[in-house]
Amino acid sequence: MRIGIDLGGTKIESVALNDTGQELIRKRIKAPQGNYQNTLNAIVNLISEIETETQLKGTVGIGIPGTISPQTGLVKNANSTWLIGQPLKKDLESLLKRNIRIENDANCFVVSEASDGAAKDAELVFGVIIGTGTGGGIYIRGQSVIGANAIAGEWGHNPIPWPTKDELPGRDCYCGKQGCIETWLSGTGFANDHKDFNKLDKLIIAKEIVLLAENGDKTAQASLQRYEERLAKSLASIINIIDPDVIVLGGGMSNIQSLYINVPKLWDKYVFSDHVTTKLVSPKYGDASGVRGAAWLC
Ligand SMILES: [Zn+2]
Repeated sequence: MRIGIDLGGTKIESVALNDTGQELIRKRIKAPQGNYQNTLNAIVNLISEIETETQLKGTVGIGIPGTISPQTGLVKNANSTWLIGQPLKKDLESLLKRNIRIENDANCFVVSEASDGAAKDAELVFGVIIGTGTGGGIYIRGQSVIGANAIAGEWGHNPIPWPTKDELPGRDCYCGKQGCIETWLSGTGFANDHKDFNKLDKLIIAKEIVLLAENGDKTAQASLQRYEERLAKSLASIINIIDPDVIVLGGGMSNIQSLYINVPKLWDKYVFSDHVTTKLVSPKYGDASGVRGAAWLC
Protein backbone atom coordinates (compact mmCIF):
# COMPACT_ATOMS: atom_id res chain seq x y z
CA MET A 1 0.00 0.00 0.00
CA ARG A 2 1.13 3.52 -0.84
CA ILE A 3 0.05 6.37 1.40
CA GLY A 4 0.16 9.89 0.03
CA ILE A 5 -0.18 13.04 2.12
CA ASP A 6 -0.73 16.50 0.69
CA LEU A 7 0.21 18.97 3.38
CA GLY A 8 -1.60 22.13 2.34
CA GLY A 9 -1.81 25.54 3.94
CA THR A 10 -5.45 25.07 4.94
CA LYS A 11 -6.01 21.31 4.76
CA ILE A 12 -4.17 18.02 4.97
CA GLU A 13 -5.35 15.47 2.45
CA SER A 14 -4.42 11.79 2.50
CA VAL A 15 -4.98 8.83 0.25
CA ALA A 16 -4.01 5.17 0.28
CA LEU A 17 -3.50 3.37 -3.03
CA ASN A 18 -3.05 -0.35 -3.57
CA ASP A 19 -0.30 -1.69 -5.83
CA THR A 20 -2.34 -1.17 -9.00
CA GLY A 21 -3.07 2.45 -8.12
CA GLN A 22 -6.63 1.90 -6.95
CA GLU A 23 -7.82 4.13 -4.18
CA LEU A 24 -8.48 2.32 -0.89
CA ILE A 25 -9.26 5.18 1.41
CA ARG A 26 -9.19 8.96 1.50
CA LYS A 27 -9.28 11.42 4.38
CA ARG A 28 -9.14 15.17 4.71
CA ILE A 29 -8.64 17.30 7.81
CA LYS A 30 -8.08 20.98 8.52
CA ALA A 31 -4.40 21.93 8.74
CA PRO A 32 -3.28 23.00 12.22
CA GLN A 33 -2.17 26.39 10.97
CA GLY A 34 0.78 28.02 12.65
CA ASN A 35 1.74 25.05 14.80
CA TYR A 36 4.53 22.68 13.78
CA GLN A 37 4.08 20.12 16.58
CA ASN A 38 0.35 19.82 15.88
CA THR A 39 1.11 19.40 12.18
CA LEU A 40 3.38 16.44 12.97
CA ASN A 41 0.73 14.90 15.23
CA ALA A 42 -2.01 15.38 12.63
CA ILE A 43 0.04 13.59 9.95
CA VAL A 44 0.97 10.71 12.26
CA ASN A 45 -2.69 10.30 13.33
CA LEU A 46 -3.89 10.26 9.72
CA ILE A 47 -1.42 7.54 8.80
CA SER A 48 -2.24 5.48 11.85
CA GLU A 49 -6.00 5.73 11.11
CA ILE A 50 -5.42 4.61 7.51
CA GLU A 51 -3.28 1.67 8.59
CA THR A 52 -5.75 0.61 11.27
CA GLU A 53 -8.69 0.76 8.87
CA THR A 54 -6.94 -1.06 6.04
CA GLN A 55 -4.97 -3.43 8.29
CA LEU A 56 -1.98 -2.73 6.02
CA LYS A 57 1.32 -0.96 6.45
CA GLY A 58 2.13 1.60 3.78
CA THR A 59 4.99 3.51 2.25
CA VAL A 60 4.63 7.23 2.89
CA GLY A 61 5.12 10.07 0.41
CA ILE A 62 4.38 13.65 1.38
CA GLY A 63 3.90 16.71 -0.78
CA ILE A 64 4.66 19.97 0.98
CA PRO A 65 4.31 23.62 -0.03
CA GLY A 66 8.07 24.11 -0.09
CA THR A 67 10.99 21.77 -0.26
CA ILE A 68 13.63 20.05 1.85
CA SER A 69 16.96 21.84 1.49
CA PRO A 70 19.56 19.43 0.08
CA GLN A 71 22.17 21.19 2.26
CA THR A 72 20.50 21.30 5.67
CA GLY A 73 17.66 18.75 5.51
CA LEU A 74 15.34 21.47 6.82
CA VAL A 75 12.18 22.79 5.17
CA LYS A 76 12.66 25.90 3.06
CA ASN A 77 10.44 28.04 0.81
CA ALA A 78 7.16 27.04 2.46
CA ASN A 79 4.25 29.47 2.37
CA SER A 80 3.03 27.52 5.40
CA THR A 81 5.73 29.47 7.17
CA TRP A 82 5.51 27.46 10.43
CA LEU A 83 7.25 24.62 8.58
CA ILE A 84 10.27 26.71 7.56
CA GLY A 85 13.52 25.65 9.21
CA GLN A 86 11.98 22.50 10.70
CA PRO A 87 13.47 18.99 10.34
CA LEU A 88 10.12 17.69 9.02
CA LYS A 89 11.50 14.59 7.30
CA LYS A 90 13.66 13.53 10.24
CA ASP A 91 10.87 14.14 12.79
CA LEU A 92 8.27 12.22 10.80
CA GLU A 93 10.66 9.35 10.11
CA SER A 94 11.34 8.94 13.81
CA LEU A 95 7.62 9.20 14.72
CA LEU A 96 6.54 6.81 11.94
CA LYS A 97 9.55 4.50 12.36
CA ARG A 98 10.23 4.24 8.62
CA ASN A 99 11.86 6.12 5.76
CA ILE A 100 9.57 8.51 3.93
CA ARG A 101 9.78 10.69 0.80
CA ILE A 102 9.01 14.39 0.84
CA GLU A 103 8.74 16.51 -2.27
CA ASN A 104 7.38 19.84 -3.31
CA ASP A 105 3.60 19.68 -3.72
CA ALA A 106 3.68 21.14 -7.23
CA ASN A 107 6.12 18.39 -8.26
CA CYS A 108 3.69 15.79 -6.86
CA PHE A 109 0.88 17.48 -8.75
CA VAL A 110 2.71 17.45 -12.08
CA VAL A 111 3.73 13.80 -11.64
CA SER A 112 0.09 12.83 -11.15
CA GLU A 113 -1.28 14.85 -14.08
CA ALA A 114 1.54 13.98 -16.50
CA SER A 115 1.51 10.24 -15.68
CA ASP A 116 -2.13 9.46 -16.34
CA GLY A 117 -4.01 12.75 -16.04
CA ALA A 118 -4.73 15.84 -18.11
CA ALA A 119 -1.19 16.06 -19.54
CA LYS A 120 -0.79 12.37 -20.30
CA ASP A 121 1.49 11.67 -23.32
CA ALA A 122 2.98 15.19 -23.31
CA GLU A 123 6.76 15.33 -23.39
CA LEU A 124 7.26 18.56 -21.46
CA VAL A 125 4.73 19.68 -18.88
CA PHE A 126 4.60 22.64 -16.53
CA GLY A 127 2.30 22.04 -13.57
CA VAL A 128 1.05 25.09 -11.74
CA ILE A 129 -0.54 25.36 -8.35
CA ILE A 130 -2.53 28.51 -7.82
CA GLY A 131 -4.22 28.23 -4.47
CA THR A 132 -3.08 29.32 -1.03
CA GLY A 133 0.31 29.90 -2.66
CA THR A 134 1.71 29.76 -6.18
CA GLY A 135 3.94 26.80 -6.98
CA GLY A 136 5.17 25.10 -10.09
CA GLY A 137 6.70 21.82 -11.17
CA ILE A 138 8.42 20.69 -14.36
CA TYR A 139 8.02 17.23 -15.87
CA ILE A 140 10.17 16.08 -18.75
CA ARG A 141 9.84 12.74 -20.53
CA GLY A 142 8.50 10.73 -17.63
CA GLN A 143 10.19 12.46 -14.71
CA SER A 144 9.69 15.46 -12.51
CA VAL A 145 12.70 17.77 -12.31
CA ILE A 146 14.02 18.59 -8.84
CA GLY A 147 16.98 20.79 -9.77
CA ALA A 148 20.35 21.65 -8.22
CA ASN A 149 18.74 23.72 -5.47
CA ALA A 150 15.53 21.68 -5.32
CA ILE A 151 13.55 24.66 -6.64
CA ALA A 152 12.92 23.76 -10.31
CA GLY A 153 9.67 25.33 -11.46
CA GLU A 154 9.35 27.75 -8.55
CA TRP A 155 8.09 30.71 -10.50
CA GLY A 156 5.90 32.16 -7.71
CA HIS A 157 8.65 34.32 -6.24
CA ASN A 158 9.81 35.91 -9.44
CA PRO A 159 8.45 39.41 -9.90
CA ILE A 160 5.35 39.79 -12.06
CA PRO A 161 6.71 40.15 -15.62
CA TRP A 162 5.91 43.12 -17.90
CA PRO A 163 4.47 45.06 -14.95
CA THR A 164 2.15 47.99 -15.49
CA LYS A 165 2.69 51.19 -13.48
CA ASP A 166 -0.06 50.32 -10.99
CA GLU A 167 1.51 46.90 -10.36
CA LEU A 168 4.69 48.49 -9.04
CA PRO A 169 6.20 48.08 -6.51
CA GLY A 170 3.59 45.48 -5.52
CA ARG A 171 2.62 44.01 -2.17
CA ASP A 172 5.10 42.66 0.38
CA CYS A 173 5.61 38.90 0.17
CA TYR A 174 6.46 36.52 3.04
CA CYS A 175 9.70 35.72 1.17
CA GLY A 176 10.97 39.24 1.90
CA LYS A 177 10.53 40.66 -1.58
CA GLN A 178 7.84 42.79 -3.15
CA GLY A 179 5.50 42.18 -6.06
CA CYS A 180 6.11 38.44 -6.37
CA ILE A 181 3.87 36.55 -8.81
CA GLU A 182 2.39 34.77 -5.79
CA THR A 183 1.14 38.05 -4.31
CA TRP A 184 -0.98 38.48 -7.46
CA LEU A 185 -1.95 34.96 -8.50
CA SER A 186 -2.65 33.10 -5.25
CA GLY A 187 -6.27 33.07 -4.08
CA THR A 188 -5.39 35.64 -1.45
CA GLY A 189 -3.52 37.72 -4.03
CA PHE A 190 -6.63 37.82 -6.19
CA ALA A 191 -8.81 38.77 -3.20
CA ASN A 192 -6.34 41.50 -2.10
CA ASP A 193 -6.27 42.99 -5.59
CA HIS A 194 -10.08 43.09 -5.72
CA LYS A 195 -10.16 44.79 -2.31
CA ASP A 196 -7.41 47.34 -3.01
CA PHE A 197 -8.48 48.19 -6.55
CA ASN A 198 -12.06 48.85 -5.46
CA LYS A 199 -11.04 50.40 -2.11
CA LEU A 200 -13.25 47.98 -0.21
CA ASP A 201 -13.30 47.86 3.60
CA LYS A 202 -13.19 44.12 3.88
CA LEU A 203 -11.74 41.20 1.98
CA ILE A 204 -14.06 39.10 -0.16
CA ILE A 205 -12.67 35.60 -0.68
CA ALA A 206 -11.67 34.50 -4.18
CA LYS A 207 -14.52 32.02 -4.58
CA GLU A 208 -17.11 34.71 -3.87
CA ILE A 209 -15.54 37.20 -6.26
CA VAL A 210 -15.75 34.57 -9.00
CA LEU A 211 -19.39 33.95 -8.14
CA LEU A 212 -20.09 37.69 -8.28
CA ALA A 213 -18.40 37.88 -11.68
CA GLU A 214 -20.51 35.00 -12.98
CA ASN A 215 -23.61 36.82 -11.79
CA GLY A 216 -22.74 39.93 -13.77
CA ASP A 217 -20.98 42.10 -11.15
CA LYS A 218 -18.85 44.50 -13.22
CA THR A 219 -16.13 45.16 -10.64
CA ALA A 220 -15.71 41.42 -10.00
CA GLN A 221 -15.52 40.80 -13.74
CA ALA A 222 -12.84 43.47 -14.06
CA SER A 223 -10.86 41.85 -11.23
CA LEU A 224 -11.06 38.52 -12.99
CA GLN A 225 -9.83 40.13 -16.22
CA ARG A 226 -6.85 41.66 -14.41
CA TYR A 227 -6.16 38.22 -12.95
CA GLU A 228 -6.29 36.56 -16.37
CA GLU A 229 -3.90 39.14 -17.84
CA ARG A 230 -1.42 38.57 -14.98
CA LEU A 231 -1.68 34.80 -15.29
CA ALA A 232 -1.16 35.09 -19.06
CA LYS A 233 2.03 37.14 -18.80
CA SER A 234 3.39 35.07 -15.91
CA LEU A 235 2.87 31.86 -17.90
CA ALA A 236 4.30 33.50 -21.04
CA SER A 237 7.59 33.98 -19.20
CA ILE A 238 7.60 30.23 -18.45
CA ILE A 239 6.79 29.37 -22.08
CA ASN A 240 9.69 31.59 -23.19
CA ILE A 241 12.09 29.54 -21.06
CA ILE A 242 10.99 25.89 -21.06
CA ASP A 243 8.46 25.90 -23.94
CA PRO A 244 6.12 23.22 -22.55
CA ASP A 245 3.64 21.20 -24.62
CA VAL A 246 1.06 21.46 -21.88
CA ILE A 247 0.51 23.67 -18.86
CA VAL A 248 -1.85 22.14 -16.33
CA LEU A 249 -3.38 24.26 -13.60
CA GLY A 250 -4.14 23.04 -10.10
CA GLY A 251 -5.15 24.52 -6.74
CA GLY A 252 -8.34 26.37 -5.85
CA MET A 253 -8.01 29.02 -8.57
CA SER A 254 -7.84 26.29 -11.26
CA ASN A 255 -11.59 25.81 -10.81
CA ILE A 256 -12.24 29.08 -12.68
CA GLN A 257 -13.29 27.80 -16.09
CA SER A 258 -12.85 31.11 -17.94
CA LEU A 259 -9.06 30.88 -17.44
CA TYR A 260 -8.76 28.04 -19.97
CA ILE A 261 -10.51 30.06 -22.67
CA ASN A 262 -9.17 33.55 -22.00
CA VAL A 263 -5.57 33.11 -20.85
CA PRO A 264 -4.29 31.40 -24.07
CA LYS A 265 -5.79 34.31 -26.04
CA LEU A 266 -3.88 36.77 -23.88
CA TRP A 267 -0.45 35.13 -23.70
CA ASP A 268 0.32 35.38 -27.44
CA LYS A 269 1.41 38.99 -27.14
CA TYR A 270 4.01 38.12 -24.49
CA VAL A 271 5.42 34.86 -25.92
CA PHE A 272 8.44 35.22 -28.22
CA SER A 273 6.98 33.17 -31.05
CA ASP A 274 4.76 33.65 -34.11
CA HIS A 275 2.51 30.80 -32.94
CA VAL A 276 1.84 29.42 -29.48
CA THR A 277 0.75 25.78 -29.52
CA THR A 278 1.15 25.23 -25.77
CA LYS A 279 -2.13 23.95 -24.31
CA LEU A 280 -3.60 25.19 -21.04
CA VAL A 281 -5.65 22.46 -19.39
CA SER A 282 -7.59 21.82 -16.20
CA PRO A 283 -6.46 18.96 -13.98
CA LYS A 284 -8.03 15.54 -14.41
CA TYR A 285 -7.79 14.68 -10.74
CA GLY A 286 -8.49 18.16 -9.42
CA ASP A 287 -7.78 18.57 -5.74
CA ALA A 288 -6.77 14.92 -5.52
CA SER A 289 -3.78 15.26 -7.84
CA GLY A 290 -1.26 16.40 -5.24
CA VAL A 291 -2.08 13.58 -2.90
CA ARG A 292 -1.98 10.94 -5.66
CA GLY A 293 1.40 12.21 -6.82
CA ALA A 294 2.66 12.09 -3.24
CA ALA A 295 1.57 8.46 -2.94
CA TRP A 296 3.43 7.65 -6.18
CA LEU A 297 6.67 9.12 -4.81
CA CYS A 298 7.51 5.85 -3.07
ZN1 LIG B 1 7.81 36.14 -2.66
